Amino acid sequence: MEKQLHRAFVIFLLMVVILPVPFSHGLPPRAGLKHSIVIDPAHGGSDTGVKLSEKMYEKDVTLLMAVLLQRELQKSERYQVRLTRDADEEVSLSARAKTAKTFRPDIFIGLHVNAGFGKNSSGYELYFPGFNLPASSLSPPKNESSEILMDMTKNKYLNSSVRLSQSIQRNMERVFPRKSRGLRDAPIVIIKDLQIPAVVIEIGFATNAADREKITDGDTQKAVVRALGNGIKEYFR
Ligand SMILES: [Zn+2]
Repeated sequence: MEKQLHRAFVIFLLMVVILPVPFSHGLPPRAGLKHSIVIDPAHGGSDTGVKLSEKMYEKDVTLLMAVLLQRELQKSERYQVRLTRDADEEVSLSARAKTAKTFRPDIFIGLHVNAGFGKNSSGYELYFPGFNLPASSLSPPKNESSEILMDMTKNKYLNSSVRLSQSIQRNMERVFPRKSRGLRDAPIVIIKDLQIPAVVIEIGFATNAADREKITDGDTQKAVVRALGNGIKEYFR
């Protein structure tokens, strides 16, 4: 019995010492290292997303902003950005997931345009996965060590995702002042198997006239891209 306990303790110690290494993606990288980012411009090709004007759909705005954001970040050599698509083409969710899996970025950014909830719903919205954690992760640990570690890992990604969202939110407030519908939790299908901090940005509402005008306006698009870029840079600081 004592031997078993001892062995369990050694295994636990090993897990504590060894596990943080492969799970270190959620931590800010050390100085001098490049920060890697995957940006996912939602929709594309025949999957147009929501309609914004006679000529412009969600797929066009997400691609435009993704390309601009990539350019903006890669002005500095510290950022390495990969897009899940760089043309107006249909890309499956699994193909997008594969890009993220292969590239293994420090963070994942998804871009969408919102719609619905009536004509009055407006403003950007941010969501990230994992807010509804099981109660076990919040109460003092009394379960098996592996489960505790799993909770610790989950919490770390959650903390990073929250920090990233808040950093983006601070900067987005300047573009869409006091219009934020806030942060919310929702699963992000593309990265459900990956443990990386992630946030999806719904840039505004296609169903709201004022938002539609902003989203299709070149200057506002650039302002949003700058806000996202600054938010990302602040997260890595
Ligand atoms: Zn969408």
